[in-house]
Amino acid sequence: MAVVGLFGGAFDPPHVGHVALARAAIDHFGLDRLLVLVVDDPGHKRTATPVETRLELARLAFADVPEAVVEIDRHARTVDSLEARRLEDAVFLIGADELVDLPTWKRPERVLELVRLGVAMRPGVPEQRLRDARARLPAPDRIEYFALDPVAVSSTEIRKRVGRGEPVDGLVPPAVAREITALGLYAPAE
Ligand code: ATP
Repeated sequence: MAVVGLFGGAFDPPHVGHVALARAAIDHFGLDRLLVLVVDDPGHKRTATPVETRLELARLAFADVPEAVVEIDRHARTVDSLEARRLEDAVFLIGADELVDLPTWKRPERVLELVRLGVAMRPGVPEQRLRDARARLPAPDRIEYFALDPVAVSSTEIRKRVGRGEPVDGLVPPAVAREITALGLYAPAE
């Protein structure tokens, strides 16, 4: 049966770490389709850019990943988004930093009933913190780690670099870099 992947984020902006995670997950889980969910209002953090702009950037970022379908997600909470979708066999992808936060999500036990979790390693997340987070979860057998060559980049770093007028070549896909410049995103206020 076809396995669908779900990859949610603020994507403010999308970067090469996101694309690497998507590609590694497609290989590891044999995904036919990967829904990239650009979360309108992530709740736990503020976004610098309207969701329509982040959608556009994410479409550019994932343009070379044929399995990826990019869309806006209006649900602030993962469990609500998943309840609305009712997918048969789906794997929800997160970076290791998100796994550490999972016990604070709305109804993590329900999330793990609705989907498997695919967790990619992320630089800066100590293994002990991962083990502790996993031990606190209701269904650790629903979690599968997959290897990702570490990509030390975050959207925060990119916003800061752009704000300082520094280049972001190599940190975001070239089309995303061009669009950031064209739209004047993340620039310091005049
Ligand atoms: P910010 O710096 O604004 O917090 P971010 O770089 O973490 O943003 P998000 O859009 O919040 O980007 O991330 C979406 C998902 O991608 C999360 O599950 C996050 O853990 C994962 N992710 C982001 N960057 C990486 C990376 N370099 N390696 C592995 N996973 C990542």
